[in-house]
Amino acid sequence: MRFASHTEKNITHYKKAPFLGVWDFVLLLALIFAATVALKYYIEPETGSVCTVYVDGEKVIETDLLTDSVTAIPGTHAVLTIKDGAAAITENDCPNKICMKTGFVGRAGGTIVCAPNKIVVKISGGGYFVTGVHK
Ligand SMILES: [Zn+2]
Repeated sequence: MRFASHTEKNITHYKKAPFLGVWDFVLLLALIFAATVALKYYIEPETGSVCTVYVDGEKVIETDLLTDSVTAIPGTHAVLTIKDGAAAITENDCPNKICMKTGFVGRAGGTIVCAPNKIVVKISGGGYFVTGVHK
């Protein structure tokens, strides 16, 4: 009889416990944080893998970012350099050199624009090593 009443007491205590304790709340926050980070990583690829160069709206170069290279951009005096998974215009004859000042761009969605010479360098994911999403 004593044992039974003891058990009953414990059950009552358990039922009175709040549904969310402090640590449950902390765990919940941690889960939300982890999910947010995972989602962000899933939607925004860390690095791009394809570099496309347009001159006056025409595609002149399409290359991957995995191989280091130095290429003269056709029809211009600009030079495209690919190094360590990022692309940059390293030489150009435009007056303000804004394109060169942009430096290396390696993130998918990144662009380098040279307005005077109508050069656009675009970095895209391409689905090569984009985590989660394969386009
Ligand atoms: Zn420029």
